[in-house]
Amino acid sequence: MAKISINIKEATIEKRELIAGIDLGTTNSLIAFVNKETGLAETVKEDGKNSLVPSIVHFESPDKVIVGSAARHYLVTDPQNTIYSVKRLLGKSYKDVKEFEGYFGYKIIDEDTEQLVKIRVGNSFYSPIELSSFILKELRHRAESVLNAEVRKVVITVPAYFNDSQRQATRDAGKLAGLEVLRIINEPTAASLAYGIGLDPQEEKTIAVYDLGGGTFDISILKIQNGIFEVLSTNGDTFLGGDDFDRAIVDYWLEHNHVSKDTLHTDKSLSQSLRLQAEEAKIHLSNHDFYSGKHDSLQCNISKAVFEQLTLPLVEKTIAAILRALSDAKLTSDLIETIVMVGGATRIPLVKNTVAAFFGKPVNDSLNPDEVVALGAAIQADVLAGNQKDILLLDVTPLSLGIETIGDLMDVIIPRNSKIPTSAARQYTTSVDGQKNLKIAVYQGERDVVKDNRKLAEFILSGIPAMPAGFPKIEISFILNADGILKVKAKELRSGLEQSIDIKPQYGLTDAEVEQMLLDSIVHAKDDMKIRSLLEAKTEANQVLLAAEKFIKKNAELLSAEEAAGMQALMTALKQATASDDKDLIQVKMDELNEYSRPFAHKVMDAVIGEAMKGKKV
Ligand code: ADP
Ligand code: MG
Repeated sequence: MAKISINIKEATIEKRELIAGIDLGTTNSLIAFVNKETGLAETVKEDGKNSLVPSIVHFESPDKVIVGSAARHYLVTDPQNTIYSVKRLLGKSYKDVKEFEGYFGYKIIDEDTEQLVKIRVGNSFYSPIELSSFILKELRHRAESVLNAEVRKVVITVPAYFNDSQRQATRDAGKLAGLEVLRIINEPTAASLAYGIGLDPQEEKTIAVYDLGGGTFDISILKIQNGIFEVLSTNGDTFLGGDDFDRAIVDYWLEHNHVSKDTLHTDKSLSQSLRLQAEEAKIHLSNHDFYSGKHDSLQCNISKAVFEQLTLPLVEKTIAAILRALSDAKLTSDLIETIVMVGGATRIPLVKNTVAAFFGKPVNDSLNPDEVVALGAAIQADVLAGNQKDILLLDVTPLSLGIETIGDLMDVIIPRNSKIPTSAARQYTTSVDGQKNLKIAVYQGERDVVKDNRKLAEFILSGIPAMPAGFPKIEISFILNADGILKVKAKELRSGLEQSIDIKPQYGLTDAEVEQMLLDSIVHAKDDMKIRSLLEAKTEANQVLLAAEKFIKKNAELLSAEEAAGMQALMTALKQATASDDKDLIQVKMDELNEYSRPFAHKVMDAVIGEAMKGKKV
């Protein structure tokens, strides 16, 4: 069996080069690096002061994008064109985000499909990947201008619970920002590295990382052993964070001034500006016993004691989540040796004290809680740069492995830089009714279109029992062993039909070739994303057209002549759009057809239900 012949550290990274760590946060993002003189991690600060870049993107026009603090006040004045919390949408389909759509002040495209979500700004459509890439670009520019150096290679952090598709989306966002993402690491892992926990391979420890950010709460229990950070359990609340503490203050002020809460619904600008003032009060109360202020005619006072009384239920919710995490990890609180505090909202004394009391020991809070994740990412980056020789790095696979999917696109199953041995699986289905054979083509590389990657093998899963399109469940699993041998297995889960093949992914690739492939993937990242989104839009449009045709044929009697003609016209327009290379146009036409046909779909549904109910006793 062939061994992996490439040492990624030597093949792609020159000694002592600057690799940055990035915390791409829901509320705030930061970039950090290890200072060569001091050997310590530090965040890049604007004007030497502020390291936080609010994760807000404002579109003045499609060509004029403002990111960060400067975009903040547009949340009040121009909410439709101002995108926040985009991290919540990364790697998600519309189905995934449906239940919290009301949370966003901007338009999420409602296609009710499994496709990844898109956001509409004016007449342009953006994926969360593109939006995140604007934030990454801003961080990159900031670092480059402050450090007067080029930043190309980065480590980006993600929550421990992020799934494959969310991690891949984060990676793609980096690519699109012209960055080479050397590794995606978990936020709690980064936070512990910032405190120096886990840097010594001899160290063995069980720790809890408590992360209360602007809008999310995460608790992670990690076991550190032989330099490996194993996530034992995660828990939390995706809608609990500092914002809720602000809201509690706003509600209190309204009540005190005898103003109805409904006022906030009608007066969005008052709602936003009051919220900003409440945040100011909250931050003030982290170091003082009383806040007093005014907002137009409103008296805005609050004492620390009242604030604590109002927000205790929020803190208690986090404790309940810790208990669930401990129970999942099969541990009790006394077995947790170290507690690391992360996220700006852990500066609130009530939060800190309650958590310390719960574990019965002091918490680690000496570093800036909103900087620790970025600092840890910078340390990991420095390790990857080869600057910390005594730290062991695990072997990784140097190029991504995946299969070809519809539209000639590469679907990555094992991302590059995954520790080996590793395995991953993903489910696919057929696109044609009665399809009996499925070609599985395996590729290696970082480009989005398969022909730009290296083909490793191809085999056919044959004898799939005849089923309607979309019905078979075909699981493709990749198992990469420690020797770098890849085994690819395809199994149709409904029938149990199975086939597999062994591949040596590394065989015949020289270091120089790997380097070239990585380089190409960076140089072509922008074109690739463009082609990918165009191909995806075309594929999607074809599916929508097919479904629409089927629909008209089946339900002819339910549609009036005008309705049918209206649909036909929109279908023709969509067909014409797919012949162009204008992704946004295809999207607009698809949107129009969907909007137009939605009421008919409801009508049909009612008729079907009516039919089913006939003659049945209820
Ligand atoms: P995220 O991880 O969601 O990007 P952060 O870790 O940057 O968020 O945390 C942002 C939250 O921290 C905001 O709600 C902010 O008001 C809060 N925060 C920042 N500083 C303080 C402070 N001194 N006291 C209380 N809350 C604070
Ligand atoms: Mg965070």
